[in-house]
Amino acid sequence: MPASADKDMEASLAPYAARSAGSRGRRFAEPPAGSRTEFQRDRDRIVHSTAFRRLEYKTQVFVNHEGDLFRTRLTHSIEVAQIARSIARNLRLNEDLVEAISLAHDLGHTPFGHAGQDALNACMESYGGFEHNLQSLRVVDKLEERYGAFDGLNLMFETREGILKHCSIPNAQLLGEIGQRFIDKKQPTLEAQLANLADEIAYNNHDIDDGLRSGLLSIEQLGEVDFFARHRREAEAAYPGIGGRRMINETVRRMINALIIDLIRTSEERIREAGVQNLDDVRGAPALISFSDAMRQEELWLKRFLRENLYRHYQVNRMTSKARRIVRELFEAFMAEPRLLAPDYQAGDGDSSRQARKVADYIAGMTDRYAMREHRRLFMIDEI
Ligand code: MG
Repeated sequence: MPASADKDMEASLAPYAARSAGSRGRRFAEPPAGSRTEFQRDRDRIVHSTAFRRLEYKTQVFVNHEGDLFRTRLTHSIEVAQIARSIARNLRLNEDLVEAISLAHDLGHTPFGHAGQDALNACMESYGGFEHNLQSLRVVDKLEERYGAFDGLNLMFETREGILKHCSIPNAQLLGEIGQRFIDKKQPTLEAQLANLADEIAYNNHDIDDGLRSGLLSIEQLGEVDFFARHRREAEAAYPGIGGRRMINETVRRMINALIIDLIRTSEERIREAGVQNLDDVRGAPALISFSDAMRQEELWLKRFLRENLYRHYQVNRMTSKARRIVRELFEAFMAEPRLLAPDYQAGDGDSSRQARKVADYIAGMTDRYAMREHRRLFMIDEI
């Protein structure tokens, strides 16, 4: 295929979609891919990265060794990409960009989900903190070692911007061009906005599914959530007598579908009302990819239910407490004795901020099981 691949493949997109041709490009100029659009190329680079493979052994709520049936960050990222792509196709947005952002959005996550992230952030308090979105960007900009000419994956600006979903103002000020929108209070591409909401759709629904599977949540408890109860009644009306896993799957499937349809309709309407003609208009408009107010309310109830009943379940608390301890103890041990680290992770110049960032990179890159094993290796005398 000639170098016009971008143009041909992106010709049918909406005028306000992101395009390779109108992109702010890569930090290090590269010749065009030819057979792929630039965003397909980004997606491929992400899939081949080391950090992407590690997602298989990282978790959000459950710890990786707890069972084979739970979502990992890898399967979560694939679910987000699937949801985001199907919505993007309906809105004529750039599917390749939305897929690249979705697959990369969790690359910077620590082991043990939010417990790990909070613990590492607390450890890094006097060294600039730790934010997982910023770390995802750091992985694709700096930490991946795959190319001779540059550090990282040298992704397109719009892919990097989508990965940096949130960012504190002090950090935004340090980042230059990529952080500018947080200072100017501007929006990213519609594809970035979409990947963000596809993430919410995916995790709320799979946390219900995994919560039920683990036995930490019961169907009776979920009856409190009107959104679940309504779709359960629909599933039972369609398939009288249905029970067990089929009933749960038929219910969750309907919930995901309702969220997707609402998001498509509401976003179409908001895009039309805003009258955006191009990507610049999108950046200056309010967020246009959105749920309706009614659906937003349903989602908030669902989130509250999950927070109270699953994320703070005592069995989850036990695991997150251990996870926090492991992360904190690893951090403290490495900071006290940097020579316990492999040479690449030793700052070697006595600069504690630089050393702390290297330790944070090392810990953030660990999978759940690697962190547990490393902890045993450091603290158990008979483990090598
Ligand atoms: Mg996610």
